[in-house]
Amino acid sequence: MQQNQTSEPMVLVHGGAGGSRDQDDGCRLAANGGMDRLRGGGTALDAAVAAVVAMEDDGRYNAGSGSVLCLDGQTIEMDASVMDSSGALGAVACIQRVKNPVLVAQAVAGTPHWLLAGEGAERFARSAGFASHHEISQRQRDKHEKLLRTLSGDTQATPGVANSAFARHWNYDTPRAFQPCDTVGAVARGADGSFAVACSTGGSAPSLLGRVGDTPIIGSGFYAGEHGAVAVTGIGEHIVRRLLAHTVYAWIAGGMPAQEAADKGVALFPAEIDVGVIALGRTDAGSASNREMPFAQVPA
Ligand code: ASP
Repeated sequence: MQQNQTSEPMVLVHGGAGGSRDQDDGCRLAANGGMDRLRGGGTALDAAVAAVVAMEDDGRYNAGSGSVLCLDGQTIEMDASVMDSSGALGAVACIQRVKNPVLVAQAVAGTPHWLLAGEGAERFARSAGFASHHEISQRQRDKHEKLLRTLSGDTQATPGVANSAFARHWNYDTPRAFQPCDTVGAVARGADGSFAVACSTGGSAPSLLGRVGDTPIIGSGFYAGEHGAVAVTGIGEHIVRRLLAHTVYAWIAGGMPAQEAADKGVALFPAEIDVGVIALGRTDAGSASNREMPFAQVPA
């Protein structure tokens, strides 16, 4: 791996496309925590993961303790991922009852596999020492009530998808509760020119049980390599079709400035699809979103 000894350490954090800039303070705290790890001799991966853990614990973002409720109003399914330029790669999908999915994703990177899903992921978490954790925040209960009201009306809860589709394909073992996105992510660059990305989400709402978005899918929600690191947020079903994170990474690897690559990535999507990108190149950084998106960059 080529490394640039003169790289300026940097951490970028987003709090999800469609969030509020009023929540930049949590991103800044997380990015500063990541930078502290770098300054203390931690790797780029340590920094990205520390930033995402802070966001998962904040409670205002759709990840970890703030994760969105599934349509049954009880279940929480979360996705998370990590990757760095030295080859570390780990992810979890549809994991339940853990506090910090990104830490489980980091632990998966130490197994023979790169992605664990569902019950197997949760069992792995227990055997790796992660305690059982299931807390539903009042904020998410309120959002869920609002979503149920939307699903009962004429406004589409997901652009381009009839509300009735969620009733027709209902796969929860509780009666359906109605009549017919904000993920977090961090990218880090170490002084040695290494790169890392970490992402975590409670998924999107509304969704069927077992739904997996882009966040734990390599090249879609995240990518890191010797030329940079990219984290993506937005509607996963659209993002995976564009392999957005790797597309932006490939542009940066080809010499495009990170800001231009982030802008170009967001421009691939029609306006009604939420999407946001944060990206680091060897000497620069970029961020873009077609919605309000909490964000921080350290150093600014
Ligand atoms: N990308 C996430 C997903 O589709 C949601 C988000 O970024 O808000 O699961």
